[in-house]
Formats: sequence, C-alpha cells, structure tokens
Amino acid sequence: MDLTWSPEEEAFRRAAREWLAAHVPSPPLPSGDTRAGFAAHLAWERELFAARWSVVSWPEEYGGRGASLWEWLIFEEEYHRAGAPARVTQNGVFLLAPTLFRFGTAEQRARLLPRIAAAEDLWAQGWSEPEAGSDLAALRSRAVRADGGWRLTGHKTWTTRGAFCTHLFGLFRTGPQDARHRALTYFLVPLDAPGVTVRGFQRLDGDEGFAEVFLDDVFVPDADVLGEVGQGWTVAMATTGSERGLTLRSPGRFLHTAERLLELAREVGSGAHRDRVAQAWIDAQAYQWFTLEQVTAIAGGHEVGAEASLAKLFWSELDVRLHETAAELLGPEAELAGPWSKGFLFSLAGPIYAGTNEIQRNIVAERLLGLPRR
Ligand SMILES: Cc1cc2nc3c(=O)[nH]c(=O)nc-3n(C[C@H](O)[C@H](O)[C@H](O)COP(=O)(O)OP(=O)(O)OC[C@H]3O[C@@H](n4cnc5c(N)ncnc54)[C@H](O)[C@@H]3O)c2cc1C
Repeated sequence: MDLTWSPEEEAFRRAAREWLAAHVPSPPLPSGDTRAGFAAHLAWERELFAARWSVVSWPEEYGGRGASLWEWLIFEEEYHRAGAPARVTQNGVFLLAPTLFRFGTAEQRARLLPRIAAAEDLWAQGWSEPEAGSDLAALRSRAVRADGGWRLTGHKTWTTRGAFCTHLFGLFRTGPQDARHRALTYFLVPLDAPGVTVRGFQRLDGDEGFAEVFLDDVFVPDADVLGEVGQGWTVAMATTGSERGLTLRSPGRFLHTAERLLELAREVGSGAHRDRVAQAWIDAQAYQWFTLEQVTAIAGGHEVGAEASLAKLFWSELDVRLHETAAELLGPEAELAGPWSKGFLFSLAGPIYAGTNEIQRNIVAERLLGLPRR
C-alpha cells in the first residue's frame, strides 16, 4: 500500500482543516442525545451541508464533493482532530445512504439522498425488538399487503435518538415466522405517519437518547420498500456491514481520543501508567493502519463482508481501553461528570451496539476462520 498523499489530497486536507478551524463550535455543543443538544447539532449539520462538507464522498448531484475513499478518511481525521460535533445524522449518512446507493431505485436515490445530505430527513435505525436483538431473524414486527403498499404493525426498541428523528428504516416480516431471515423486507417509514407512536427513554448516562417505536397498522407505499420484497436480510446486512466497519468507525475518532489521553498523561500521570497509555496509543495507530489496509483492498475491488466484524471488535475494545486508561489516570476524579466520564460510559456500549462482540466472535470463528458451528 502506497501511503504518500498526492498534492490534490494534501490540498483537500488543507481546505478541510481551514474550514473546520474557522467553524467548529466553541465551546463544544451539548450532547446530541438530549433534545436541546440535538437541535444545536442540527444547526451544525446544516452549516456543514451549506459548505458541502456533510457528505464529502457522495456525487455532487446529491450534495457531495465526489471525494475518494482516501479523501473521505482524510476528512474524518481532520473532523475529529478539530473536535467537531458528533454526527447526529449518522444513521442516514453512514448507514442508510450506502444501502440506498447499492439497493435503492433511481427514484429513491433522487428523492431521499439530497434530504439526508441536507439534514432534512433524520433517520433512526429500526432493527432491535424486545425479543430480537442478537437473534435479529426472530423479529416479529410484520407487514401485510395492502392496496398500493403495506400495513406495518409491531414494536421496535433501542432506536438511537428515535424521539428526535423524522424517519425510521427497519426490517419487517412479510412471510411466515418460521421462515426466519428468508421472509423479511426492508421498509422506510416516516415517523409522523398515522399509527406510529414514539416513546423516548433514558440511557445509562441520563440522556434521553433512546426510543421505543410502536407501529399500529401504519401504511407505507410500495415506493418505500428498499430492495426486493423478501430480500430484506441481504439489504440489511449491507447496512450492518457499514455500521460495524468502515463508514461509521473511521479511525479519526479513536486517534483523537488517544491524543487526548496522551495530553492527560502529561498533565496528571505519575509514570505508573506509562505502559498502558503507550499501549492504548499504539492500538489506536494499529487501528488506523488496519483501516488503511482495508481501504487499499476496497479500492482494489475487494468486498469487506465478514471482515467488518474484525473491525468492530477492534474499535469497540480499543475505545473501552482508551477510556479505562484515562479513568485510571484520573483516579477518583474520574467519577465526576466530564468528557472522560461521559466517554467512558458510552464506550461501555460499544461492545453491545452494532451487534454484540460475542456475536462478532461467532462470525469471525465461523466465516473467517472456518471453525465448526456449536
Ligand atoms: C448505545 C446503543 C445504541 C443502540 N442503537 C440501536 C439502534 O439505533 N437501533 C436498533 O435497532 N438497535 C440499537 N441498539 C440495540 C443493539 O443492537 C442490541 O442491544 C444488540 O443487538 C444486542 O441485542 P439485545 O440487547 O437484545 O441482547 P441479547 O441478544 O439478548 O444478548 C444478550 C447477551 O447474550 C449474548 N448472546 C446472544 N446470543 C448469543 C449467541 N448466539 N452466542 C453468544 N452470545 C450470545 C449477547 O452477545 C449478549 O451479551 C443499540 C444498543 C446500544 C447499547
């Protein structure tokens, strides 16, 4: 892999860095997992869009810059280095959009992508149900054929920022329960449709970032089925691959945390934690190299597939290590509210969301290593 940046890539980095230096809000915005914080983040998202930095790798016709995967990584690195706000549009930009590019009709792409880029439609992810988390194929929410579309009934849970979003993408059963993943269809649902009830609830850290979504005979037209009827599992796996792997977990976020950890160690470290700080920093660099290798492979036509599970294990455990090390450095002070304690609580969720790490280890064992199923 050749890691020399071209003059164009260097110019792209400079332009991103300069714009971010002039525009990143200071002091940082309140948490995007509260209603007020979400509104502040939305204003930021629209500023990003107006300057055409919201979806850099998309074609210009949809609001992007047509940037390469490498340039996208450069942008992400600069974005996190600048301490820019977490993206509250991430479900639309990083999960649904790549799936729309791959499985959407031309009409769906033209209708939906510009609104995602402009932060007009805000998407929640509707996979999990009370009895279907790791075993997603057990989901019970169903869709029944109606004139010109479908009628959806069911109950989704753990939808991140669902109470603040305008739309939900999710899987619904369009065939018999015992057909499991072979009878699912991927639907796009406006959350203001008649029959939808959204109920927010708190996370571990007290932010109201989660919601349950109840659907009672909600009509969705055929135009809002993504991919083929009955093929929802295949379409959803593309979304899940994006969530576990590259598009949602660029290394910039962890490199930035590693740099902050170094600063903390210089400020408060006694020397007793030197090895752990150095190891956590090295691990963040290793994740970057791993990602660069993956990008090289993707640029050469390789499909990531089950390898996304390796990336997911890597970034989620790395995030916990970085924050645990910071907590050790801070000692009892780590218990006080602040960016490190908040980050620590959120890092604990990393091994759970995007598919638990136990499940990722099963995937690695069976699909990458070819070990027998238990
Ligand atoms: C911060 C956060 C944000 C989230 N956001 C969303 C969202 O926006 N939309 C959404 O749909 N969902 C979301 N989720 C839900 C998340 O995807 C689920 O929590 C996750 O898939 C696990 O499902 P579960 O909670 O039902 O646990 P369960 O599936 O009940 O698992 C419980 C435990 O058993 C283990 N286990 C289960 N089956 C096996 C097996 N076969 N082999 C080994 N171990 C197994 C699991 O790994 C886990 O440790 C979010 C979760 C969190 C924490």
